[in-house]
Amino acid sequence: MSQQVRVRFAPSPTGPLHIGGVRTALFNYLFAKKNNGTFFLRIEDTDQNRFVPGAEAYIMEALEWLGIAPDETIGKNEKFAPYRQSERKDLYQRYATDLINSGNAYYAFDTPDALDAARKLEEEQGKTFIYNHTNREKLDTSLVISTEETAKRIADGEHYVIRFKTPVNETLYLHDIIRGDVKFDTNLLDDKVLFKSDGMPTYHLANIVDDHLMETSHVIRGEEWLPSMPLHALLYRAFGWDAPQFAHLPLIMKPVGNGKLSKRDGDKMGFPVFPLDWKTDEGTSSGYREKGFFPEAVVNFLALLGWNDGTEQELFSLDELVASFDLHRVHKSGAKFDPEKNKWFNHQYLIKQEDATLAKAFSPILLEKGFDVDESKLTKIVSLIKERAHFVSEFWEMSDFFFEAPASYDEKASKNWKAETPELMQDLISVIEEIGDFTSLNIEIIVKDWMTKNEIGMGKIMQPFRLSLVGALKGPHLFDIVEVIGKEETISRINKAISSL
Ligand code: GLU
Repeated sequence: MSQQVRVRFAPSPTGPLHIGGVRTALFNYLFAKKNNGTFFLRIEDTDQNRFVPGAEAYIMEALEWLGIAPDETIGKNEKFAPYRQSERKDLYQRYATDLINSGNAYYAFDTPDALDAARKLEEEQGKTFIYNHTNREKLDTSLVISTEETAKRIADGEHYVIRFKTPVNETLYLHDIIRGDVKFDTNLLDDKVLFKSDGMPTYHLANIVDDHLMETSHVIRGEEWLPSMPLHALLYRAFGWDAPQFAHLPLIMKPVGNGKLSKRDGDKMGFPVFPLDWKTDEGTSSGYREKGFFPEAVVNFLALLGWNDGTEQELFSLDELVASFDLHRVHKSGAKFDPEKNKWFNHQYLIKQEDATLAKAFSPILLEKGFDVDESKLTKIVSLIKERAHFVSEFWEMSDFFFEAPASYDEKASKNWKAETPELMQDLISVIEEIGDFTSLNIEIIVKDWMTKNEIGMGKIMQPFRLSLVGALKGPHLFDIVEVIGKEETISRINKAISSL
């Protein structure tokens, strides 16, 4: 690629960043890194009505946590500052005026009431009202009054908007890296508002001006912006600027049924759709971080929502993703969000962690329960249970019997406790008492040897033995548990079972 790659993530700070936005940021990041380019973050906060305090900080924190922080943004390598559109406010008016002067835009003075009346009139004739070439000369615009009158009305403080004068009778042949060739009929477009008399640009104008000034080479964004592509292409043309290349990412779909994954689906269905917790007066929308997901797992999972490298490979580190990423391999059709797969990825990253690292993460949970466990012992326990876990938060439930004797016994499993069991368990205690080298394999050899010599069936010992130690028929290899809890505790638990069951 000869052109310097510069891509941006340009969220509006209207709330917490949802998972679709995170995926857009990730694909921009991967594309930038793959092409030795720059990934920058621009905050599109021109719509003051939808501004939500805290959202901007949330977005930055989320990208940091995921390991995909921008190279340039507010407070960081500010080569094209400011990166917040509200601070670029004074810039846009000039560009709006340029479009007026070149005949590509016009002032529209219609009051809301006048627009309503015009809409009603069209509807009565069975038509849908679109503000465009069909009626712009019948409405209250600078296209039908003199330049002097226009200037006077503006000077008098009348409210106006500046609308784009969409060209008529044209078919636009555009190209999208993911979708290929796409064409649009300009007669079907409406004359979008670009600028308002409160001095604020709309998204469309600010976005195009900034992408030009910030030297954006590729616009990679969600499919919901595809309908804006013809207007954006026309705006670049009207300004006489080269347009960036476009790539519209597929939608992320609900796990079941049809439709786009919504912000509400997550908490409703019990999985996070936000990177971090988002707290409001109405409650908390849960985030991946607080649910115990590893950022690497979230990144890996999201990368495969709408993209693959053409092989069966599913596990990719961030570096591997950068190396394999290709916009041409992004799918056109929607990607189903699968919460189970999401957890599967976390499991994969969990088992890859060092046992000692996981032990450190588990330790505070244990301390809260009142157990201050020796580090090497905890590391050993973690090594025995992690294969079945998705999250560190599941560790306690999977391993409580390592720390305390069972308080009760699973009812169904207790059926394995037969009339002859107490006597057999007494004999087992005698065998265990004699074991010197109290390590899993040695204990196992001695116990099994004793069973074989005395012709005692496996089931007669192993299940009641496990029940005594664990309280249920769950947990890792039994003799590993025996080793970890030690001889004294093992015997004490068997005794307790004999007296309780
Ligand atoms: N501010 C827009 C958004 O919130 C940006 C769309 C674009 O990337 O052009 O998604």
